[in-house]
Amino acid sequence: MAVTMETPLARVLGPKTAASMADQLGLHMVRDLLRHYPRRYARRGEMARLDDLQKGDRVTILAQVKSVSTRRMRQRHGTITEVTVGDGAGSMKLVFFNNRHAKLAQGGWGLFAGTVGSYQGSLQFTHPDCHMLDNADGDDDWARALVPIYPASKDVSSWVIQKSVKLLIGAGGGFGDLVVDPLPDEIRSRHGLLSLAAALLDIHRPTTMDDVEHAAHRLKWDEALILQLTLAGRRRAAALEPGIARPRRPGGLLDAVDAALPFDLTEGQREVGEELAAELDREHPMHRLLQGEVGSGKTVVALRAMAQVVDAGGQAALLAPTEVLAAQHVRGIRQLLGPLGRAGELDGAADGTRVVLLTGSLKAAAKREARAEVADGRAGIVVGTHALLQEGVDFADLGLVVVDEQHRFGVEQRDALRAKGSRPPHVLVMTATPIPRTVAMTVYGDLEVSTLRQLPSGRGGVASSVVPMGEKPGWLDRAWLRLREEVAAGRQAYVVCPRIGDVSGADDEPEDADGAPDRDDDRRPPLAVLDVAELLRAGPLNGLRLDVLHGRLTPEEKDGRMRAFAAGEIDVLVATTVVEVGVDVPNATVMVVMDADRFGVSQLHQLRGRVARGKHAGLCLLVSEASTASSTGQRLAAVAATSDGFELARLDLETRREGDILGAAQSGTRSGVRLLSLLEDEELIAAARAEATALLETERGLADHPGLAAEVAALATDERAEWLEKA
Ligand code: ADP
Ligand code: MG
Repeated sequence: MAVTMETPLARVLGPKTAASMADQLGLHMVRDLLRHYPRRYARRGEMARLDDLQKGDRVTILAQVKSVSTRRMRQRHGTITEVTVGDGAGSMKLVFFNNRHAKLAQGGWGLFAGTVGSYQGSLQFTHPDCHMLDNADGDDDWARALVPIYPASKDVSSWVIQKSVKLLIGAGGGFGDLVVDPLPDEIRSRHGLLSLAAALLDIHRPTTMDDVEHAAHRLKWDEALILQLTLAGRRRAAALEPGIARPRRPGGLLDAVDAALPFDLTEGQREVGEELAAELDREHPMHRLLQGEVGSGKTVVALRAMAQVVDAGGQAALLAPTEVLAAQHVRGIRQLLGPLGRAGELDGAADGTRVVLLTGSLKAAAKREARAEVADGRAGIVVGTHALLQEGVDFADLGLVVVDEQHRFGVEQRDALRAKGSRPPHVLVMTATPIPRTVAMTVYGDLEVSTLRQLPSGRGGVASSVVPMGEKPGWLDRAWLRLREEVAAGRQAYVVCPRIGDVSGADDEPEDADGAPDRDDDRRPPLAVLDVAELLRAGPLNGLRLDVLHGRLTPEEKDGRMRAFAAGEIDVLVATTVVEVGVDVPNATVMVVMDADRFGVSQLHQLRGRVARGKHAGLCLLVSEASTASSTGQRLAAVAATSDGFELARLDLETRREGDILGAAQSGTRSGVRLLSLLEDEELIAAARAEATALLETERGLADHPGLAAEVAALATDERAEWLEKA
C-alpha cells in the first residue's frame, strides 16, 4: 500500500514507536511527522561555544570521541569512565560510572545530549545520551555537518525522530509522490517558493543553513496562508450573516449623551463614531476591533454606539474583565445619562432606558431582578462580567455586544454572548493594549480594525522614571516625598505591588501573571501589597489616608474602596494589578510600581495609563532592584522612555514568548503554526493575507485548490482552531 500524508505512523514505524510519538509528541500521521521540524541543527565547530555553557543547560553537541579511559574509583566501589569529545574547536568531558557508557570508540562521531554539570570547577556531562553516527548503517549525517535536532520526548529521542523521518524521505523518488503540494503554482512562482517536497527535504536534511532558510520560508508560507484563509473565511461568513440594522434616530439617547458630554470628542473619536454608526445601520453584523492608546477615550465611543442601538429599539451589552471595571462603567454611564438612564424610577425620564449591572457577586434577589430587566427589555444597557455569559441570562433583543479590554477574553466568550441575540448582534471589541500589526493580522484577523491614535487634548502627560534600588537607593525616599507633595496639592496616588501578601501564611500567587516575565527563579519573593502598605503607613507616607485594594477583598469591599478613592476619600491606594485595566480616576497623578521588573511591558504601560487621565500632569515611577545595565533594566528604561503604546507593544512581543500570545500555538504540534514568527514575518504574513483575500474573492474560491481547502478544513475541525480563540 502506498504511503500518503494520511498514513498512520504505526504502519510505517511499527506500533511501539508510533504509540510513543502519538502520546508524547502528538504525531499521528505521516503528515504530522513530516511537519515536525528540527528545533535546530547541530554542526561541527559548535563547541567553540562551549564557553557559553552554564551548569544546568541542556544541550546536544556533535563531536568526535578523542579519548576513552576507564579506572576503578578510589573512594567507592566501581569504575569511572572519562570520555573526552571534541570537534576541533573545543572539547568537553563526558563521565560514565560502572561501564554505563555504550560503544564509544575513539575516532567516532556522535551526538551527545545531556545536562551540563560541573565537577571540581570544570564543566562536564554525566551520563549523556549518546548516539554514534555510524557509517555502517548508511548514516552519512555527520558528513553533512548539519545534524537536525528535533523536539523530543522521554521515549522518543531526537535521533529516533531523525531515523523515522529519514525512512519517509529516504524513499527517494517516491517522496515527491507522497507529498502533494497544496500551494497553487501561481502563488509559488509569484513568491519564488520551493515545492513542498523540496522544502521538506531541506528542512529535515539540509546541507547548508541557506537550505534551511529557504525551506523554512516556504513552510512558513503554508502556515500563514492557511491561517489567513481561515480568517478571511470567517470575515466573509460574518459579512454574509443576516443581522439587524440599528439606524440612528435623532432626538434619542445618543443625542442626549452627546449633549451631556463634558468635553468635545476628539477627531478620532468622531471618525470612529461615524464608522460605527454606519456599520450598525447595515443588515449584517459588525465585527470590529477598536484599538486605542490607554486613555484615548474608547469608552465614550462604545457608549455612543450603544446609545444608537438603544434608540433603534435594541439592547446593548458591555462585557468588562473585572467587577471593579464593570461597576465603574455603570457608574459613569448612569451619571452621564442622568434621568434618561432611570426609566421606570420616580425621577426617571419616561423615554429613557435602564442601565443594569450584572455581575457574579450580586445578591440572588438583585441578580433575579437584573435578569428580569434584561429579559423583558427594560434594560437597554447591560454591563457585566463573565456573569453575563451564563445560562439564564436572556436578552429581549440584543443588538450590540461590546467587549472591553479584549485581551482578557477569547473568541469563545465573545461567541457565547453573541449567541444570546436572536440574530447575530453587532460586535465591538476594544483593546487598550495596542497590538502590533502582525497580531492584528493573526490573533484578531477575523475583525476589521479601527484605531484611536490621539489622546484627548489638554492632558498633562506622564513623566516616567526608573528608580534603580541597587544603584540609587536614596531615590526611593525622594519618590515618597514627591508623592507626598502631590497629595498635599490635592492629588492622589497608586502604589502597585506584584503580590497581595501573606495573611494565611500561604504563599499567594501573583494576582495576574499576564505578560510578566518568568518567576521560576530564586530571587526573593515579590513585594506584597499588605507588607508595603504597612511599611508606608508606619514610615514615609505616615499620616496620609492610605488603603489597600486586591483580589482577596470581597467584591463589595473592592467596589467600596474604588468608590472612596474616586471620591477623593483615600489619598494613596496600595494595590495589585486589579487597577491595571481601565480604572479611571482623573485626579490620580502618581503611580509607583514596586518591583516593576516583575511586570510585563504592556502591563506597565497599562498601569501608567491610570494616571494623568485628567488635566494634571502625571508621574510614574518604576521601582526595581534590577541593574540598569541588565536586559530587565533596559526593558524598564524603554518603558520609561516612550509613551507610544504601539512601540511598547512591539517590545512586549519581543520579550514575551510568542507562544504566550498565540496561546497553544507554539506549545503543541497540533497547532497550525510552528515556524511562523509574529515578530519577524510581518511581510510574509501581509503577503499571505493579500493572497488569501484574493483567492476567496474569486468566484470559485478554493474549489480549484482542493489541497488548500483540505488544509483549511483540517485547521478548522482540528483542535488546532483552538489557538485562534486564545488571544
Ligand atoms: P480608555 O480608552 O483607556 O478606555 P477612557 O475611555 O476610560 O479611556 O477615557 C479616559 C478618560 O478620558 C475618561 O476620564 C474620559 O472621560 C476622558 N475622555 C474621553 N474622551 C475625552 C475627550 N474627547 N476629551 C476629554 N476627555 C475625554
Ligand atoms: Mg477603557
